[in-house]
Amino acid sequence: MVQEQAREQRGERASVVIVGTGFSGLGMAIRLKQAGIHDFLVLEKSGGLGGTWRDNTYPGCACDVPSLMYSFSFEQNPAWSRLFAEQHEISDYLRHCADKYRIHEHIRYGTEFTGAEFDEDSATWRISTADGTEYVARALVSGLGALHIPSYPEITGLDSFQGEVFHSAQWNHDYDLTGKRVAVIGTGASAIQFVPRIAEQVERLHLFQRTPPWIQPKPDRAVPERVRRWFRRVPGLQRLARAGVYWLLEARFLAVFSQRLRPWSERLSKQYLRSVVKDPELRAALTPDYAIGCKRILLSSDYYPALNRDNVDLITSGVHEVRERSVVTGDGAEHPVDAIVFGTGFHVTDAFDHLDIVGREGRKLQDAWRDGMEAYLGITVSGFPNLFFLLGPNTGLGHNSVVFMIESQINYVLSCLRPICRDAIDHLDVRQQVQDDFNREIQGKLTGEVWSQGGCRSWYLDENGINRTVWPGGTWRYWLRTRKADPADYEIVARGRR
Ligand code: NAP
Repeated sequence: MVQEQAREQRGERASVVIVGTGFSGLGMAIRLKQAGIHDFLVLEKSGGLGGTWRDNTYPGCACDVPSLMYSFSFEQNPAWSRLFAEQHEISDYLRHCADKYRIHEHIRYGTEFTGAEFDEDSATWRISTADGTEYVARALVSGLGALHIPSYPEITGLDSFQGEVFHSAQWNHDYDLTGKRVAVIGTGASAIQFVPRIAEQVERLHLFQRTPPWIQPKPDRAVPERVRRWFRRVPGLQRLARAGVYWLLEARFLAVFSQRLRPWSERLSKQYLRSVVKDPELRAALTPDYAIGCKRILLSSDYYPALNRDNVDLITSGVHEVRERSVVTGDGAEHPVDAIVFGTGFHVTDAFDHLDIVGREGRKLQDAWRDGMEAYLGITVSGFPNLFFLLGPNTGLGHNSVVFMIESQINYVLSCLRPICRDAIDHLDVRQQVQDDFNREIQGKLTGEVWSQGGCRSWYLDENGINRTVWPGGTWRYWLRTRKADPADYEIVARGRR
């Protein structure tokens, strides 16, 4: 008892604790301030803010969604230098948001969230962190996102490798790749951005591809100074441009996910591949054998040209093992290398497995999600009152900006947090039936869709082949459903009525 009190004294209390300082956590913090709620803390495991845009610093790291949409609607940035901003500019933008809305004073840096337990008597979350400090809050908001735990494949002999090894999300900038023989494993969204950059630098690049991605040219260009001036001076112009980009991206959803338009979209990609890669063998190796949209469609205008280079080999025979100074493929060929760079993505459908979150009646989140993670609108989970997920299950996208989804979720969460912070209600807990009906509905839509039927295996699907990641439709539909929480969906306990 004494020990417990001592532990709690070391921590802090707040009405709301937010975890993470990426787009989700920062956005939530700013909107709380704008709503006049100042009693909140933000826990951040590292020493700086920015989430995925702080961690991913690999060469060529940039957004593949136009910056006009990949930013907060309430904090437009007329200064974007390119249509698709690079990592450093996005990271600066997030820092600017934190400065402008004075969020730093709420952030507890170097504080890694490890779990939380709901105390029914006090209707509070007791939040644990890696250094043992405990925080107490009425409501807990996860801004953890799904793309933050690097995934390293299990490869025989990797431990014995004597050269340099790192992941795209943990780039070792102290290691100079100039003149080195480098293996890159993976050809996803990150690899197609850094491969063209390092190909110019290395002596030899062995690119190990398991599945070729569908690639379309990236319509990126510098934003002329005069356009930036117009954005600054003409009220509403940037909003109008943003709306245009929004609907263009929504139309892209149709182009890929409508069965009738998909072949047209595939033809465009194949034409682009033919126009750049003249070697028929290489072209065949780069041609996907599954439906476009089954995995994320990648945008790049420099990836295919990089593969035409003499010092780049595309290897498709599968990584079999790693030896002290080489990578050996399934056909027995040995490729001597000085460094291995993994572009193998992140733990997604198991991203919350390491957290110890305990809700009502001692129910663990891992148990609630034993058959797969699911939530109501991707935000609330029955049995876990006053806990809200941003970018939770089935709210990821392949066609538009996740910042739009995050803002929709923040609106929704705010409509729940206002009465909690005003002391009108004690806690709210989504009804199991409501959550079940919602998940039946979206799984019904998802099973017939390209992510499950397109002939590929992607991280959108969990180990049972169920899509736990993607929102199955237009983002405006999600926006319509999340404008405000419907009290009928929740068991609500009024303050003092427990
Ligand atoms: P990813 O898209 O998941 O790609 C991982 C790559 O590694 C795939 O090519 C995959 O092959 C390969 N791979 C995985 N395990 C392997 C193994 N055991 N052996 C051989 N190859 C293996 O990961 P990512 O490129 O890091 O991107 C992750 C996500 O981050 C993206 O989908 C996107 O949402 C986000 N992202 C966004 C941007 C942006 O501009 N907004 C930029 C980068 C990343 P298979 O295809 O065969 O599985």
